[in-house]
Amino acid sequence: MQKLVEEIQKLKKERNAVIVAHNYQLPEVQDIADFRGDSLELSRMAAKSHAKVIVFCGVYFMAETASILSPDKTVIMPDTAAGCPLANMITAEDLRELKSRHPKAVSVGYVNTSAEVKAELDYCCTSSNAVKVISSLKDAEEIIFIPDKYLADYASKKTGRRLISWDGYCPTHVKILPEDIIRSIRLHPKAKVIAHPECASEVASLADEVLSTGKTCEFVKKSEAKEFIIATEVGLVYRLHKDNPDKKFYPASELAVCPNMKRTNLEKILWALEEMKNEVRVSDEIRKKAKKSIDAMMSIG
Ligand code: SF4
Repeated sequence: MQKLVEEIQKLKKERNAVIVAHNYQLPEVQDIADFRGDSLELSRMAAKSHAKVIVFCGVYFMAETASILSPDKTVIMPDTAAGCPLANMITAEDLRELKSRHPKAVSVGYVNTSAEVKAELDYCCTSSNAVKVISSLKDAEEIIFIPDKYLADYASKKTGRRLISWDGYCPTHVKILPEDIIRSIRLHPKAKVIAHPECASEVASLADEVLSTGKTCEFVKKSEAKEFIIATEVGLVYRLHKDNPDKKFYPASELAVCPNMKRTNLEKILWALEEMKNEVRVSDEIRKKAKKSIDAMMSIG
């Protein structure tokens, strides 16, 4: 493996590339990355870097988001078949149809959407700022929120706003069941329970904190607690262990593994850099419209 790592590092320099890896990637992929984080955080960090090439180790919509924010850079993916089933649950056509049924509604969409869907949105949001974005829409008569029904439910409870949601969900997060949390608490009674807002509402309601992956990393670092039950994709536990060696982490369910996130490995990173293949580029027309929804979110702060 060391030889592979060295070859990637050498080629990365030659290509003037930056490697970014989502918190759910395999440990060896996280280890070779220049930046680790959640999807928007990675795209923003890559955009700020001086690199000409972004190697995006994540899923397709994330590489598209990087392309939207960095049109002058070449974005490549080690494996373009790594999609996000949640993002694929709504198309631009679906959203246009939903908007036509609610012509007065402001449309808000989770970053887990295709570039074409983002191009139809008024506001993009992440799992960490969804509540803030909804709270800011005080004058909106109606609010559409797509595609994750559990994030919509969480944001609706937090803001007291009724949201017109879509029947989308993350197939990995719904594998975490309320009984997994109850069993984990029984085994680790002192541990704090942190759930991702993509978890089913019954799971989120059992958690001490409902946080995005980025906010989970921040929370754990500052917390006085020494043990944590982590209800999200298991890959995050690797990063938490690494950043907090004196604390203990227990995945709420070993079944919460996103097969798409695990498609990327070191060999595929090397091949992508060697051949400069698997470029992800969003057309100018879609990029400009999609960026407006991201800028609208940023303007909320
Ligand atoms: Fe999509 Fe869920 Fe996998 Fe994240 S964990 S990439 S939301 S399927």
